[in-house]
Amino acid sequence: MSELQSISHNHIWMRCRLCSHQSMTSVADLIKYKGKTTKVAEIVNKAVCSKCGCSEVPEYRIIYRGASESAMLGAVGKVEAD
Ligand SMILES: [Zn+2]
Repeated sequence: MSELQSISHNHIWMRCRLCSHQSMTSVADLIKYKGKTTKVAEIVNKAVCSKCGCSEVPEYRIIYRGASESAMLGAVGKVEAD
Protein backbone atom coordinates (compact mmCIF):
# COMPACT_ATOMS: atom_id res chain seq x y z
CA MET A 1 0.00 0.00 0.00
CA SER A 2 1.24 3.48 -0.86
CA GLU A 3 2.89 5.84 1.57
CA LEU A 4 1.65 9.41 1.37
CA GLN A 5 5.00 10.67 0.10
CA SER A 6 4.65 8.55 -3.06
CA ILE A 7 1.39 10.28 -4.00
CA SER A 8 2.09 13.74 -2.60
CA HIS A 9 0.63 15.54 -5.64
CA ASN A 10 -2.66 13.67 -5.44
CA HIS A 11 -5.84 13.98 -3.43
CA ILE A 12 -7.77 11.34 -1.52
CA TRP A 13 -11.51 11.35 -2.13
CA MET A 14 -13.69 9.54 0.40
CA ARG A 15 -17.40 8.80 0.66
CA CYS A 16 -19.18 7.74 3.84
CA ARG A 17 -20.89 4.35 3.52
CA LEU A 18 -23.68 5.42 5.84
CA CYS A 19 -24.75 8.91 4.70
CA SER A 20 -22.84 9.25 1.39
CA HIS A 21 -21.13 12.45 2.58
CA GLN A 22 -18.11 13.07 0.36
CA SER A 23 -14.87 14.85 1.05
CA MET A 24 -11.59 15.38 -0.76
CA THR A 25 -8.34 16.12 1.02
CA SER A 26 -4.99 16.97 -0.53
CA VAL A 27 -2.25 14.48 0.28
CA ALA A 28 0.09 17.43 0.85
CA ASP A 29 -2.12 18.50 3.77
CA LEU A 30 -2.27 14.96 5.16
CA ILE A 31 1.53 14.80 5.09
CA LYS A 32 1.64 17.98 7.19
CA TYR A 33 -0.59 16.47 9.88
CA LYS A 34 0.23 12.76 9.71
CA GLY A 35 3.76 12.54 8.27
CA LYS A 36 5.02 11.44 4.88
CA THR A 37 5.50 7.76 5.74
CA THR A 38 1.90 7.28 6.85
CA LYS A 39 0.14 4.81 4.56
CA VAL A 40 -3.03 5.55 2.63
CA ALA A 41 -4.71 2.58 4.36
CA GLU A 42 -4.07 4.10 7.80
CA ILE A 43 -5.75 7.35 6.76
CA VAL A 44 -8.77 5.60 5.29
CA ASN A 45 -9.14 3.08 8.13
CA LYS A 46 -9.15 5.83 10.76
CA ALA A 47 -11.39 8.24 8.86
CA VAL A 48 -14.52 9.42 10.64
CA CYS A 49 -17.36 11.05 8.73
CA SER A 50 -17.58 14.75 9.65
CA LYS A 51 -21.32 14.73 8.95
CA CYS A 52 -22.72 11.64 10.72
CA GLY A 53 -19.75 10.50 12.82
CA CYS A 54 -19.68 7.05 11.22
CA SER A 55 -16.28 5.39 11.58
CA GLU A 56 -16.78 2.60 9.07
CA VAL A 57 -14.06 2.48 6.44
CA PRO A 58 -15.26 4.76 3.66
CA GLU A 59 -15.23 4.19 -0.06
CA TYR A 60 -12.16 6.02 -1.37
CA ARG A 61 -10.19 6.91 -4.47
CA ILE A 62 -6.81 8.47 -5.04
CA ILE A 63 -7.21 11.30 -7.52
CA TYR A 64 -4.44 12.88 -9.54
CA ARG A 65 -5.16 16.50 -10.29
CA GLY A 66 -1.83 17.60 -11.74
CA ALA A 67 -1.54 21.06 -13.21
CA SER A 68 -5.22 21.88 -12.67
CA GLU A 69 -4.69 22.02 -8.91
CA SER A 70 -4.79 25.79 -8.51
CA ALA A 71 -7.92 26.03 -10.64
CA MET A 72 -9.62 23.35 -8.56
CA LEU A 73 -8.88 24.77 -5.11
CA GLY A 74 -11.95 27.01 -5.14
CA ALA A 75 -14.25 24.10 -5.96
CA VAL A 76 -12.81 21.93 -3.20
CA GLY A 77 -13.30 24.75 -0.70
CA LYS A 78 -17.01 24.82 -1.52
CA VAL A 79 -17.32 21.07 -0.95
CA GLU A 80 -15.57 21.26 2.42
CA ALA A 81 -17.72 24.18 3.57
CA ASP A 82 -20.95 22.25 2.98
ZN1 LIG B 1 -21.55 9.93 7.16
